[in-house]
Amino acid sequence: MSLNKTYNTIVGGVEYIDEGARILKEGGLVAFPTETVYGLGADAFNERAVLSIFEAKGRPQDNPLIVHFASVEDVKMAVSHIPDVAYKLWEEFSPGPLTLVLPKNDRLPLVTTAGIQTVGIRIPNHPVALELIKKSGTGIAAPSANTSGRVSPTLSAHVYEDMVGKIPLILEGGQTDIGIESTVLDLTKDTPIVLRPGAVTIEMLANVLGKVINHKGEVVVAEAPGMKYKHYAPICPCVGAKSVESALKVYAENDGAVIVGRDSFLKDIPACIKTRSLGESPKECMRSVFTLLRELEKEYKYIIIEDFSDKENYYALYNRLKKTTGGVVC
Ligand code: AMP
Ligand code: MG
Repeated sequence: MSLNKTYNTIVGGVEYIDEGARILKEGGLVAFPTETVYGLGADAFNERAVLSIFEAKGRPQDNPLIVHFASVEDVKMAVSHIPDVAYKLWEEFSPGPLTLVLPKNDRLPLVTTAGIQTVGIRIPNHPVALELIKKSGTGIAAPSANTSGRVSPTLSAHVYEDMVGKIPLILEGGQTDIGIESTVLDLTKDTPIVLRPGAVTIEMLANVLGKVINHKGEVVVAEAPGMKYKHYAPICPCVGAKSVESALKVYAENDGAVIVGRDSFLKDIPACIKTRSLGESPKECMRSVFTLLRELEKEYKYIIIEDFSDKENYYALYNRLKKTTGGVVC
């Protein structure tokens, strides 16, 4: 993989999986669908290949990558010790949108984990991802396949926008089902800690583990490395709105604005005002949020989005939107 090379980027379906596996084995980059968002993959054990992920994304090198495997058995390639609770969690949630932070072994290069002695491991629940990983015969380091700081890709077209010319192949998989990134759970501490909320909720984890420290810090607030960077930012200004009234006020003050929220938030807004719905349930909102932001940043000049900071069951969504708005609420 040459960092300066320009590629004639192909977007291809399942018939390109063999080609994808070949590129990965040779140290190249391949974007692929997962059930969360599209990933930008490289052989996790090939330092040069991993470095080219950081290069293609413009990602800071102190932000660790998640390593993806096709089976629990294969995880041993990258970790030095697997606690019993990990097996319990995998039984329940794997393949699926749960990343477990475990101690890394010496074989896994430090560039992959941004210099730390632990590694985030995930088994994605997507047939294309699983087959690609299986055929590559290795662990695949894969962050979201967007330029660093931009909204995560939920369609192959989003990946194309950010990665055209930079990588040889994007595997097609339609719109991603979950729509936001995995839950990250650190198993290297006495009590498991959620570092990033996601579709596998705190309650689901607590049911298996008995006790878990939630990301909001009911016991302790833990910040995952990499969370300080601005993520998920659309190319136009975006603010949160505490109420419909404040949303309408900001709307009136800004040309080309749109109000985004749940159906229940939008229901009393007059039809002459431009609005777009995220859906209603947490699942619907997570699935649509990045797709919608990608669309709206092209159509509108200002995005006003319902504030979810105090809304129970929407923690994972709020965690992303806080970064989209930079925490600005009207
Ligand atoms: P993404 O940007 O979606 O690829 O997710 C990577 C994120 O997962 C990082 O920014 C961290 O927040 C978290 N993560 C990955 N590996 C680790 C690790 N070893 N320890 C703690 N958090 C991790
Ligand atoms: Mg990302």
